[in-house]
Amino acid sequence: MANLEALLRIGAYIVGLAALTLIFWYLLQVRWIKSSRRGMKLLLFFISLSLGLGVMFTGFFLYVYHGIGHQPDIYRRGSRDSNMVALTFDDGPSAEFTPAILDILKEYNVPATFFMVGTHVEKYPEIAQRIAEEGHEIGNHTHNHRNIPTLSTIELHGEILEATATITAVTGVYPSYVRPPRGMYDGRFRRLASLIGQDIVLWTISTRDWRYGVTPDSIIKTVKNKVKGGDIILFHDSGALIKNEGGDRRATVLALPQVIEIIQAKGLEIVPLSVLLHGAPAEEFPQVDMPE
Ligand SMILES: [Zn+2]
Repeated sequence: MANLEALLRIGAYIVGLAALTLIFWYLLQVRWIKSSRRGMKLLLFFISLSLGLGVMFTGFFLYVYHGIGHQPDIYRRGSRDSNMVALTFDDGPSAEFTPAILDILKEYNVPATFFMVGTHVEKYPEIAQRIAEEGHEIGNHTHNHRNIPTLSTIELHGEILEATATITAVTGVYPSYVRPPRGMYDGRFRRLASLIGQDIVLWTISTRDWRYGVTPDSIIKTVKNKVKGGDIILFHDSGALIKNEGGDRRATVLALPQVIEIIQAKGLEIVPLSVLLHGAPAEEFPQVDMPE
């Protein structure tokens, strides 16, 4: 089944590319340039193919990162009229960095939301439990951190549902939010998230703390220059996912105290996502209307 779906998808891409190439070729060859020289014809064909590919990739990029049309199910930020900001940490829990981050949050008495990876929750259940016990909110960041749009539907469901089951079983908290790895989503992801009562939450400020060789200073500067009311700030509390990206989150830990102080010095309040997005704490379990 999975293979058939992948084949059908590749087929659809090829048909789409052929159609786009034909349209450009028609415009260039028949309407605009009207050359009958063989070399020119060949050149125009390759230009058409490149334009077709360009349109496909741009379309794919926009669809995967921004979707199409009005998307009331996707949260990118809170109200710009508020003075509230939310901190979010992705990819954990990790044994190296999450406890240090939790210590700092406790010291400053500041809430955060942790978007956890299912396999990491299985690996470090005590740390996941500590996150919940210390009152932080919990989001679903899929089970294995794979790129959502490239998955078959069965794999996609597995990624979201397995993580949901693991996080709920270990922490006792149903994740109210889901964040797709690298911010890449599609229609299937949105439908499933809505069905299981998880709001899709992206971010407005990426501290880019996943980069190799990132310094605490660059993280602090990013927040200092950009932060304003309604922002959702993205950090990472685990480095175990992206190969060749260093995997070291010490800069995040070192930057965090100053980041918190800078936000507060600007008169902004750090609140849980539920407060930023809905003005009230989310329910532990989503309410589902069951027809009789
Ligand atoms: Zn991630």
